Formats: sequence, C-alpha cells, structure tokens
Amino acid sequence: MATESTTSRLRVLLAEIVDLKNVVSLLEWDQQCCLPPSAGEGRAEQLGTLQRLVHERVTSDELGREIDRLAESTRGLDPDADEVRLAAVSRRVRDRLVRVPADLVAEIARVTGVAYGEWARARSESDFARFRPHLERIVDLKRRLADCFAPYDHVYDPLLAEFEPGMKTAEVRGIFDRLRGPQAALIRSVAARAPVDDGFLRRRFDEAAQWAFATEVVGELGYDWARGRQDKAVHPFTITLGADDVRITTRVAADFFPSCLFGSIHEAGHAMYEQGFDPAFARTPLADAASLALHESQSRMWENLVARSLPFWEHFYPRLRARFPGVLDDVPLLAFHRGINRVSPSLIRVEADETTYNLHIMLRLDLEIRMLEGTLAVKDLPAAWNEGMRQHLGMVPPDDAHGVLQDVHWAGGSIGYFPTYALGNLVAAQLWERIQVDLPGLDEDFRHGRFGGLLAWLRKSIHRHGAKFAPQELVRRVTGSPIDPAPYLRYLEGKLAAVHGS
Ligand code: ZN
Repeated sequence: MATESTTSRLRVLLAEIVDLKNVVSLLEWDQQCCLPPSAGEGRAEQLGTLQRLVHERVTSDELGREIDRLAESTRGLDPDADEVRLAAVSRRVRDRLVRVPADLVAEIARVTGVAYGEWARARSESDFARFRPHLERIVDLKRRLADCFAPYDHVYDPLLAEFEPGMKTAEVRGIFDRLRGPQAALIRSVAARAPVDDGFLRRRFDEAAQWAFATEVVGELGYDWARGRQDKAVHPFTITLGADDVRITTRVAADFFPSCLFGSIHEAGHAMYEQGFDPAFARTPLADAASLALHESQSRMWENLVARSLPFWEHFYPRLRARFPGVLDDVPLLAFHRGINRVSPSLIRVEADETTYNLHIMLRLDLEIRMLEGTLAVKDLPAAWNEGMRQHLGMVPPDDAHGVLQDVHWAGGSIGYFPTYALGNLVAAQLWERIQVDLPGLDEDFRHGRFGGLLAWLRKSIHRHGAKFAPQELVRRVTGSPIDPAPYLRYLEGKLAAVHGS
C-alpha cells in the first residue's frame, strides 16, 4: 500500500501544477473573450512566464522521485487501481515535458500569443500576408518540438501524440483511407436526390432569444450552470478553470440559426465530460480527458446524434417555435428535421454537415503534414488550401478569410489537433451503437425531454474515468473494439436514408 506521506506529498505537488495550469487557462479564456486590442503582447509575456513555471514544476526532480515512490509502493496492486494509474499517467505527462527544453516551451507560448492577435486581424481583413510570418515561425518551432522526440516514425507523430496519446500518423492515415471512398460515395448519392430546403435556417432569429434558448436547452441536457458560464467568442471553445468551473463559449448569428444552438450544445458536450470526472481525481492529472478524440466524441454525440435526431425535436420544436414567434410557422417538424440534417458541401469547417465534415479534416491533415515535412512552404499554403478544397469538396473559397484563415488552431500552435475531430466523430458513432443496446428506450426518453439516462451512461462509462485509461483502451473496454470507422459509416447511411428516403 502507498504510505500516507508518499501519497500526500505527491498530491501537493500535483495540485500546485494543476492550479498553475488553471491560471494559464483563465488568462487564455480572458484573452479570447475580453482582451483589449493592444494587450496581446503583454498577455503573451504573462503566458510565457506561467508556462515556464508549469514546465519547471512538472520536470522537477522532486516530482520525478515522488512518482517513482508511488509506483514502487503500489507495485502488485490491481492495475486498474486509481493510485497505480495516477503514477502511470503522471509519469507519462512528466516524461513528455522532460524532453522539451523550458526555453522552447516559453518561445512557443510567446510566439503563439502574438500570433493569435495577428491571425484575428488577418482573418477580419482577409489578409494572409499579415499572418504568414507568424505561421512560418510556428511551423519551425513545431518541427524543433518534434525533434525533441527523435527518433520517430514520422515527424508528425510527436505532435499528434500531444492530443492523442498512443496514436500514430500511419494509423490515422489508414483510418482516413477507409473513410474517404465511402464518404465520397455517400455525398454523391445525396447529390443525386432532390435537394433539401434549409432556407428557413437563414431567416432572422432574434439574437437574445437564440442565446436564451441555447442556455435553456444545454441546461436540460445536463450542463451544470452552477459550475460553468457561457460567453461570446470568435472561435467557440470550452475551457476548464477548476473542477467546479468549466466554461463554454459560443457565437450568435442573427441570420444563421444553427451557429448558436448547435455550437452551444457542442461545447456543452465537451463541458459535461469535464464536469463528470470522478471528484476524487480533482487537482491531479487524472482529472483530464483520455484524449481529444474522446473529448470530441462527447461534443459530437450531443450535437449530432442527440440534437439532430427526430425524437429530440419532437420535444423541443414546439418550444423553439414559441421562442421565435412567426418565424417557423410554415415549417412543419419533419421539414425542420430534414433542414438541420441537410448535406451540402460548405467552405467553413465549423458549419459543415456530418457527412462532409471529415473531408475538411482530411484536407487540413494533408497540409499540416506537408508543411512539417517541408514539402509545402507557408507562402504557398493559400493556393494549396484552395486546390484541396476544389478536390475534396468541389468548391473554392472567394477569399482567405473563408479559406485558409478560418481556423484558430495553427495560430495557437495546435498542429496535430485537427485529426482528433474526425476520430471523435467515429468514436461517437461507435459508442452510440453500444448505447442503443444498453438503453433501448432512448428515443422515448428524448421525446419526453429526458436526457438523464444518456448522461448517466456516459458518466459511468466514459466521464468519471478521466485520463485513467488510454483512449484506445477506454474505447475497447466500452465497445469491445479499437477506434473503427464502420459504425460511423453505418450511422451516416441510416441518417441519410431517414432524411432523404431510401
Ligand atoms: Zn469540439
């Protein structure tokens, strides 16, 4: 058994690190929600300083010794015991940082802090040249980061591992290769059918009423407002500032209804995952998601498998109509359901439908890999983007704001992040097949506005475990197989047949 002193000293060290990370998150939240226009550089310095402190704490010899002591004292215990997993996860997190010099960490924080503001201005002016030198520095720094983990099979592997522990570039490419053909065929089959009308989604929806409706809905799904809040942001995100402070953000467009509601449900899906970690894991590395794909599986499940289903709207549609008097009077429930499930290639990833979404990700993965390999120069990125859009989705952006500048990820230094979105789609569908077996009365629950059964299943199967299990291990424990594209393709086929008629 672990002695009390071993466990408590380690817990103090880990708790202080988590506290520092949460302060970093608070500064980042503030940066994206409230920062004055000229405060970007000063904030970048603050973030650089704090990241350096976190790095020093995580890589300290004392923490290494305490993790070793815990591992030693728990040897022979059940491998699933929390303390055994705490030692293993703490060691994995520490080992990853030990390899990276503190100066490089601080440099990345400084450069991306400045790049964020420049990206936001470049995007609003559709001026890629303004962002280009910042992205060049980021790609260079990320290559240096990857080199800290040499030797590797592929330069992209160490970057992917930051978001998806244990996943290799070759594996992701393999999964995407299995998806590409069937997804393209599904899109072609939809294009051959009569188009679905979704024009009513672009009518004028009062912004305050959208905000109020979204607030109401995510609360009923299970987002705990006593342990969170919602603000506006250019690029919506969820952020955790503590075990009882998990915040979401959204954007509201008066002339595009889905942005606010489905965006809020998406972020609430992320937030409910973090609100559901075992409270005993608080202020330890176990109070974290298993991976970003697991994270995205939760947001996608609530956004698409739940909130675009017919039973969900059998419950909510009368209330939606009442909230926006007159706006949807001529749109029957079934027409509304078809409209929110319309398949149509779009320029903007965050507005893409379920069927075309993964093609946006395949494009980004391809470009990231080529930039890192050095086979695509940053100056040539806009042209490569536009060519990829033409090939993958048959359309070319009118300007860079609607093309290569649309996403915040590269400005934030998050190279290796995009594939986790597509993997999350796959995991969501894979979990959903299991849920249908375990909870056969789910449709009836939704029709009556009961979402607690689903949330309880997710809490028990996924949320409460936090980072205790590696992503592939967790998916296998729950579904019996590793991440697999087949359930997602089955789900899409079923959805399209229901919406378009088979
Ligand atoms: Zn997400």
